[in-house]
Amino acid sequence: MSSESRNDAAVQIDGVSKSFAGTVALEPIWLKIRRGEFLTLLGPSGCGKTTLLNLIAGFLEADEGELFIDRELVTQVPPHQREIGIVFQNYALFPHMTVAQNVAYGLRTRRVSKAETAQRVAEALALVKLQDFADRRPKQLSGGQQQRVALARALVIRPRVLLLDEPFSALDRNLRTAMQVELREIQTRLGLTTVFVTHDQNEALSMSDRIAVMSRGRVRQIGAPADIYDRPRNLFVSTFVGDANLFDATLQGAEGSALDLSVGGARLSLTSYQDDLPQPGPVTLFVRPEQCRLTDTNEPGAVPATVALSVYQGSYAELHLDCAAAQGGRVMLRVPAAEALPAGAAVGIALPQTGPAIYAADEANKEVA
Ligand code: ATP
Repeated sequence: MSSESRNDAAVQIDGVSKSFAGTVALEPIWLKIRRGEFLTLLGPSGCGKTTLLNLIAGFLEADEGELFIDRELVTQVPPHQREIGIVFQNYALFPHMTVAQNVAYGLRTRRVSKAETAQRVAEALALVKLQDFADRRPKQLSGGQQQRVALARALVIRPRVLLLDEPFSALDRNLRTAMQVELREIQTRLGLTTVFVTHDQNEALSMSDRIAVMSRGRVRQIGAPADIYDRPRNLFVSTFVGDANLFDATLQGAEGSALDLSVGGARLSLTSYQDDLPQPGPVTLFVRPEQCRLTDTNEPGAVPATVALSVYQGSYAELHLDCAAAQGGRVMLRVPAAEALPAGAAVGIALPQTGPAIYAADEANKEVA
């Protein structure tokens, strides 16, 4: 196989859209999912994640556009002929079948021989570490084990693409983390193209090769987790992924990427990564908690604030500050637990000189329009 053909998109979505009774669930979307990549669709409830997954699976018919899997046009191909593995949030196992029968289901419908079925079921169960549970029924398993059966059932057909819709959201936190690691290990080992749906930003950041952040039926940004976190391209992505502090500021002027700003009476010179800067005038300055530093109130450039609450978190403390220059009047930053300050303490917030982003002050209104 040439390197060029290896780089072909495993899934190509060309202008696919979907409405339900006049309500737009998905605006036309163009997306290439690379072979072997773990792509996460991340966004708030109702943004169209499941609709997009169901379109890839073939459970829904697109209103317009074309969909390719391994370069094959599948827009009109029924789900069972797309060779796709699917794992749902609620496991969707057959209760009257044993674990082995559940996993074998997709092979039976494909008329795979008994001997090969037995071997492939054993392999799939070993992959999810359930080889000793083959004869149990789903109700005799924990939630995590049931979800592993669902994963084995999806993997056993050797799918071209694995689709997972919020697969771990019913599991408790520890089990969820363990399953995330396990899935990522299996996916990497098999080199399996995977589309994973979640509304949990931490899950998306920790698991994905790339994340497509969605809102209101559109992909708002697509990129590697660090890209999305460190260089969000709009206010929606800035505030949906990770913690954000937003300040009311005035952009005095810009020369290239060097910005001259005033924030709460303090003058600041910053360098931004953005290539589309708003016009001089009122702007929203976006800064991550870890980009803010606590300092004295009289340090030049420091934004004045008062400690409202210190929340102990074990290895660190979250300081919630009252700050007149901040939107919502609050700023959050983290300090080592031993350096937490009492409520009422007057502090200065030193903002970073590189890294933050600015958005036109009215972008928040446009976001919800
Ligand atoms: P969630 O995280 O809550 O599952 P989602 O991002 O997966 O949300 P979708 O389920 O894709 O969102 O829904 C997108 C929009 O389409 C929503 O406004 C939803 O109400 C609407 N929608 C989805 N399925 C249908 C349907 N079968 N009939 C009518 N409207 C639908």
